[in-house]
Amino acid sequence: MLETTKQILSDLIAFPTVSVDSNLDMISYLAARLKDCGAKVEIFHDETGKKANLFATLGPAVDGGIVLSGHSDVVPVTDQDWTSDPFVMEQRDGRLYGRGTCDMKGFIAATVAMAPHFAQRVTDTPVHFAFTYDEETGCIGAGHLVEALKERNINPRLAIIGEPTSMRIIEGHKGCHEYSTRFQGLEGHGSAPDLGVNAVEYAARYVSRLLELKAKLTTMAPDTSRFEPPWTTVNVGALHGGSVHNVIAPKAQVDWEMRPVQASDASFVKEALKAYCEDELLPAMRKVFPDAQIDTEVVGEVAGLVPVDDNAARKLLMELTGANGADLVPFGTEAGLFQSMGMDVVVCGPGSIEQAHKADEFIALDQLSDCLKLLEKLGDTLAKG
Ligand SMILES: [Zn+2]
Repeated sequence: MLETTKQILSDLIAFPTVSVDSNLDMISYLAARLKDCGAKVEIFHDETGKKANLFATLGPAVDGGIVLSGHSDVVPVTDQDWTSDPFVMEQRDGRLYGRGTCDMKGFIAATVAMAPHFAQRVTDTPVHFAFTYDEETGCIGAGHLVEALKERNINPRLAIIGEPTSMRIIEGHKGCHEYSTRFQGLEGHGSAPDLGVNAVEYAARYVSRLLELKAKLTTMAPDTSRFEPPWTTVNVGALHGGSVHNVIAPKAQVDWEMRPVQASDASFVKEALKAYCEDELLPAMRKVFPDAQIDTEVVGEVAGLVPVDDNAARKLLMELTGANGADLVPFGTEAGLFQSMGMDVVVCGPGSIEQAHKADEFIALDQLSDCLKLLEKLGDTLAKG
């Protein structure tokens, strides 16, 4: 099985599915392999037609079962110093090198290699494969996939997101919401501040409000939170605006993020900012300049994976691996989107996040073997019903 997985992985690495480029060739390859095992395969294109999600099912078309999920895209190799061609898989010292080996084509290859085993063993429970696009740019594909599943009333019970965790079971991570807020004021001479609308000054007030909310959030963490730090954080990453000392700045931009530990914190911050802009900043700006604007662009809103007491996916994986607990990680994944559909979700996959996104990305062969063992046991357990 390891040989088959290596072969598939080598094929997958050869598709340069950097997020800005098409993933269609890789998706057709995976579709063909899964169809060969008897899976029902659906491909969902994005609006450009250049990218697609794949959703495939082995077994009966009923509720329940498990989703094995991975993203098909990889981060760019630009400005990275690779020892060998990043899109040609190479084996050296018990490791497989190539862009995407650990993040996260290794997991995808393992699930597809095991598909014939699932097809043979599991007859009463659906085993689903979800391969998405544009994870690295904000989990765009998974968001669309989740919507498509809801429309079709497909309701799996469990999901494993195979991001590289060195096969540790992960039951939670914070969300990651990124925004750019732009201020449009009115230019004027610095000597007559009341005749213009200074976008930098309004941006500064906005940042002050954000900092108040940031402080407030530290008091709102759930008592049981195991995150580090336990509360939702806010970071103002960049502040741009204006040009010179004596001109009223007509434009400004604040780039900021928050990492929610619970969805209610994100709504709290968004509502508070909306009210502040609508009730205070905009009326003041528009008194001088009716066309003044504050617009917030959502760069990405990746939902967190909220740890819950009762998580059947965690329980199952602990039984299968003999692990005695589950952890949290600081990085975001597509898991929260699946959780939002009511599934019990864990993140667990081969390879280390240490190697992700770097030059000479690799996956250790024994990590792939461990993953295959887990999937094999999973098939046997699902076969027993
Ligand atoms: Zn990843």
